[in-house]
Amino acid sequence: MNSAVEVIKTKRDGQRLSDEQIRWFIANYAMGKISHEQAAALCMSIFFRGMEPSELTTWTDAMIASGTRRDLSTLSPTVDKHSTGGVGDKISLILCPLVASFGVRVPQLSGRGLGHTGGTLDKLEAIAGWRAKLSPEEYMTQMREVGGVICAAGDDLAPADKVLYALRDITATVESIPLISSSIMSKKIAEGTDALVLDVKVGSGAFMKTFDRAQELGQTMVGLGERAGVRTRAVLTDMTTPLGLTAGNAIEVQESIEVLQGGGPGDIVELTVELAREMLDLVGVTADPARALTDGSAYDKFVEMIEAQGGDLSAPLPKAHHIETVTAEISGFVSEIDALSVGEAAWKLGAGRASLNDVIDQGAGVVLKTQRGVSIQKGQLIAELHTNDPERIETAKASLRGAFCISDQAPEPQPLVLGKVGA
Ligand code: URA
Repeated sequence: MNSAVEVIKTKRDGQRLSDEQIRWFIANYAMGKISHEQAAALCMSIFFRGMEPSELTTWTDAMIASGTRRDLSTLSPTVDKHSTGGVGDKISLILCPLVASFGVRVPQLSGRGLGHTGGTLDKLEAIAGWRAKLSPEEYMTQMREVGGVICAAGDDLAPADKVLYALRDITATVESIPLISSSIMSKKIAEGTDALVLDVKVGSGAFMKTFDRAQELGQTMVGLGERAGVRTRAVLTDMTTPLGLTAGNAIEVQESIEVLQGGGPGDIVELTVELAREMLDLVGVTADPARALTDGSAYDKFVEMIEAQGGDLSAPLPKAHHIETVTAEISGFVSEIDALSVGEAAWKLGAGRASLNDVIDQGAGVVLKTQRGVSIQKGQLIAELHTNDPERIETAKASLRGAFCISDQAPEPQPLVLGKVGA
């Protein structure tokens, strides 16, 4: 006979939870039969004591079993990407149509942003008419006929994660490698993809602040994927500096369109192509993904995907009514643009939410006018703050002021890809 107190005690004292204890606890918590206090105590015990690989596999499997595991075998090959989240991370908007343009199906069930990192669905909702929610039939039809889908994950996908994540968010138990890994991988495995590439971010703007922690997270998630029969690789990438020149919603969609049309910032192109190469390789397709950005095929697929979900790309993207400029206080080289500070500034301008029910300002965000390594003069424009609520400008400006480090010497180049797991 199981009891929640016994399960908590087992983990509190550093022992392995039995498979039966795990399955019983997750199933009953997801059904509301175990209290939040007890689940919080168990999460905190896991935070401090960790989990063995086989224990974590059962935990993840129990989370998947709280909902349905979808079957996409008739649509093979399928490959998805997940990013652990960063500032200016608009890669999915470009990568999904790019990979789908090679005839590979990309089932990308996505989430919304919380705090300083943006969400893919929030960004795409800046496009007039675009719908994040698809019925299961609409989803399968789009997967079959268009090949790429970015849409909201349904309530049937690992519902235990929904309650556990909300609980972890208010009990300081988010930053636990077993809990992050099981949360991400339960949803990705349940989605039914054949293969998965994980973009694990490292640096100030990411969950994982150090390379070693990011590597451990990558190894743990790759292990979970492989044990569940999903071919999985992780790429560890820099998130000390924002990706590209924009952090917000409509402004990130605009920047993504520029990349899809063969232009845009070099770091976005480099990372998208690198991740696309890994995705295509995992499903045995030999092709040059960079070509699809310059020959228009990735953009054509993007238009198809957006239109299939009701989006009107001929309508103007939302724009903020107030734009405040930030200029350099001294001359020198931009040696650092801190991702976390830029993300917080965008969030304070209204681009992000503090709780899941907040309404976001689609036009808000930060537009950088310089990049790391560039030489600038005192008084030169380095950033713009965009918002529809001028009262937000001062606090956002204070966050942004600390983001820029200007020095006498040009900084060493910072590689974007820091390592790989499972390659
Ligand atoms: N994203 C998730 O889906 N879960 C986590 O725990 C952290 C990031």
